[in-house]
Order: sequence, then structure tokens, then C-alpha cells
Amino acid sequence: MVINLDTKLTQQIEEICAARGVRLTTQRKRVFELICASKKASSAYELLEDLKQSEPQAKPPTVYRALDFLMEQGFIHRVESTNSFISCCSCNAHKHFSQLLICDQCGNVIELQDDSLIALLADNAEKHGFKIDNHVIESHGVCQSCSSK
Ligand SMILES: [Zn+2]
Ligand SMILES: [Zn+2]
Repeated sequence: MVINLDTKLTQQIEEICAARGVRLTTQRKRVFELICASKKASSAYELLEDLKQSEPQAKPPTVYRALDFLMEQGFIHRVESTNSFISCCSCNAHKHFSQLLICDQCGNVIELQDDSLIALLADNAEKHGFKIDNHVIESHGVCQSCSSK
């Protein structure tokens, strides 16, 4: 697999990590680059296979630890319904909830960030005395490029 390095994005997360005083190891950076390079969401298994090309000693825990770190920092999101990972559209400095549109044909994932939708849900939940801690909002369907084929 040829990696088309998105140096801008990598530079951005390097700066964020430096400012936060957390360590972006070579492996963590590499996993992030691999996720960014893939058009579709990547599974941990696919990431491990790709990582092995530059780091032959990589083991599943290597990938899982890198993924945990990247999620904690808000650089990537887990796609729960397909158990895979995408880079965050904003690499946001703060935690945010997003809505994912998942194409079942090509695997492309579009990240939406509609705060009014989240507020509406929170409002409705509150009517039941319920406080929401976490959201998983994923929609499956066909993306624009697949539907125009
Ligand atoms: Zn995001
Ligand atoms: Zn598609």
C-alpha cells in the first residue's frame, strides 16, 4: 500500500500533542497517517497489516494502544457499527459528538457535526429525566459518488 502522506494533518496533531505535553510516538503517528490515507474506515486488523510494513514487530496491542491514544486526543473516531476507525474531520481540540454517514458500498464515512441535533436529543431525554453521557449516531446508506455510478 502506497501511503500518500498528509503532512499538514500530521503536523497539526504534532503541534496539538506538543501543546498538551503528550507523546506522539512514531507508531501512534504512523497509525494516524494510515487512517488518514484510507478513504474508507479502517479496521484494527487492516491497520496492523499496514503498520507491519514499516514496523514488522508490531502486534495487536501496539495498534490498540495507538488507537486508544488517538481517540483520547480526539484525532480519530470509532465507527461503532462497523468496528472501524476514521480520522476526525476537524481533529478537534475538544471532545465533540458527531453523526456519521456510512456508505455500505464503498465504506466511505462522512462526519457531520450538528450540535442542534444533539441539543434536541438531550432535550427529549431530559423530559424523561435522562441525562445523556455519550452518543452513537450512525446512518447507513449509499454515498453520492456510489449513487451516481
Ligand atoms: Zn470529529
Ligand atoms: Zn460510497
